[in-house]
Amino acid sequence: MSRLRFATAWLAGCSGCHMSFLDLDEWLADLGRLVEIVYCPIIDVKEYPDHVDVALVEGAVANEDNREMARRIRDRTRVVVAFGDCAVTGNVTAMRNPLGSARTVLERSYLELPTLAPAIPAAPGILPVLEDRVRPLQEVIAVDGFLPGCPPPAGMIREFLEGVIAGGPPVARRPRFG
Ligand code: SF4
Repeated sequence: MSRLRFATAWLAGCSGCHMSFLDLDEWLADLGRLVEIVYCPIIDVKEYPDHVDVALVEGAVANEDNREMARRIRDRTRVVVAFGDCAVTGNVTAMRNPLGSARTVLERSYLELPTLAPAIPAAPGILPVLEDRVRPLQEVIAVDGFLPGCPPPAGMIREFLEGVIAGGPPVARRPRFG
């Protein structure tokens, strides 16, 4: 039987969810035998591949690069899981939303707060184009499951992955809103 093609990726997040993934410790070696890890910061693959079965996606959508990556993941993945509270709700990444537009955020960050040589970086490609509003993943692409937490505990990640590998429903716990 072929192994599940498994990926993790991150958009606008702090990488803390991936740190929790690393907290799976020696079980990561088991995971490497149970699934085929085709895209993840812990392997040296630059391009998100085709035909991925399950992807954990950390982070919110805050800029055009995130949006493009989210769409690519959706196009190439059977089960997309919002991994951590930034992907699920916007969380810390969305704390800039009350400041207003992307322009306001750039001015606050690069002109008002720095004491040395304040300037908004202008070189082509040096900054991804910020969106005016940070959005959770499910506002940009269809999402099949949610692993909430900041970060999700390693035990929850393992429980979810064991369920998927065992052929169970590929949907993690759904957060409750309101
Ligand atoms: S959910 Fe928490 S740990 Fe994960 S990327 Fe966001 S801030 Fe970092």
